[in-house]
Amino acid sequence: MQASTTSSANPAEVLIVGAGPAGLSMACALADAGITCCVLEANSLASLQNPADDGREIALTHKGIAILQGLKQWQDLPAAEIAPLRRAHVFNGDAHQHLAFDAEGSGRKVLGRLVSNHWLRRVAYQGALKRPGLIRIRAEAQVAQVRLGAQAATISLADGEELSAPLLIAADSRFSAIRRQAGIGVEMRDFGRSVIVCRIQHSQANQGIALECFHYGHTLALLPLNGDCSSLVLTLPADRANAMMNWDEAQFMQWVGTELRGRLGALQPLGARHLYPLVATYAHRFAAERLALVGDAAVGMHPVTAHGYNFGLYGVELLAGLLGAAKQAGQDLGGAAALERYATEHRRATWAIYQGTNAVVRLFTDERPAARLLRRGVLQIAQALPPLKAVISAQLTGRQPGFLRQVQSLIRG
Ligand SMILES: Cc1cc2nc3c(=O)[nH]c(=O)nc-3n(C[C@H](O)[C@H](O)[C@H](O)COP(=O)(O)OP(=O)(O)OC[C@H]3O[C@@H](n4cnc5c(N)ncnc54)[C@H](O)[C@@H]3O)c2cc1C
Repeated sequence: MQASTTSSANPAEVLIVGAGPAGLSMACALADAGITCCVLEANSLASLQNPADDGREIALTHKGIAILQGLKQWQDLPAAEIAPLRRAHVFNGDAHQHLAFDAEGSGRKVLGRLVSNHWLRRVAYQGALKRPGLIRIRAEAQVAQVRLGAQAATISLADGEELSAPLLIAADSRFSAIRRQAGIGVEMRDFGRSVIVCRIQHSQANQGIALECFHYGHTLALLPLNGDCSSLVLTLPADRANAMMNWDEAQFMQWVGTELRGRLGALQPLGARHLYPLVATYAHRFAAERLALVGDAAVGMHPVTAHGYNFGLYGVELLAGLLGAAKQAGQDLGGAAALERYATEHRRATWAIYQGTNAVVRLFTDERPAARLLRRGVLQIAQALPPLKAVISAQLTGRQPGFLRQVQSLIRG
């Protein structure tokens, strides 16, 4: 099934596997660089036109938002669907003090903004439709086989049809089958935990403050949405999560109320609970002959530091810029130079945060007494050390804290 077409007489210059938010945004960015592409998606056209609410609320950094603005997707989001993330308060165990992060000193009013994943998918699809003649979307097209050769990348669909192009981009999720077929390995960390997400309504205003409560045995986060409503993100061992998914609403909400200890007042559930197993992935390489990986296929983050789709967007911007320059210079789009540069720079932008996120998760899910002591110490040190907090806030706002700017200007002389 097809949504919009490049002329079939002019085959696409790039094939993209996966019409998730990263694959569709990649298509939009390539189209803006004058490059034609064909996006192949296993799911139905209806699921792209009307993406179902999957319970995910995506925290976007300022850089992620700027990329979506450049792609003209941000402008298609209704204002009511964008919630400001003004501050984040991190609690450890039963302690009352918390570590607070805000945008102060960055020149920004907010740390970032929250948008539901299904809205991001919707505007990404609409964005692709707004670039007729440059983007072709084929739904119900399951890519089964890949051949990467010196002259072209060729894919075979499940029904046997073959398509070729100078470049193939895999945006087919963190469990990418294309990555595997290309012989690219992946660092995979299965945390043995799952996350339950759902919306709740509360009687007290959230004031745009996210709460992250690291309790012993589980983590509970509340992400502020508009209209006295928040997204509850509960992380716990997979067996307990499975059992809690079977609880009825009253039992679940009573448990949440006890855990929140009266914060946010009276609580009401809003809609269904969704379950996600927690597995982080990092591809050993982001490129191979005539192939690039984007989105979760390159880096599949643990959601605690809210970087997954942001990293996807950073990769989209980087790769589209390099391929646009290659096209302008009349070079082969599947040539090694641009792909190697993409791989190196995207790794530089993501590796430390990927490892840092996993280290934080390990520390805050380790229930041994020494680890509990250490995490209390880490939070106390961070609270007492404003520069450390400023660095973390700067990561979200995309602005360097004042003291870092001063150090850099001193170094530059
Ligand atoms: C609970 C949760 C909270 C999160 N919170 C945040 C956050 O706050 N901030 C943030 O930045 N990120 C967050 N993320 C991460 C974010 O949701 C992902 O990074 C993003 O959705 C990945 O998009 P993608 O397009 O790479 O992959 P997907 O959305 O997984 O899309 C892959 C697509 O490829 C298709 N496909 C797969 N194989 C084939 C094939 N062989 N042939 C054809 N099509 C195929 C699939 O059908 C699918 O449509 C969160 C994730 C979770 C689970």
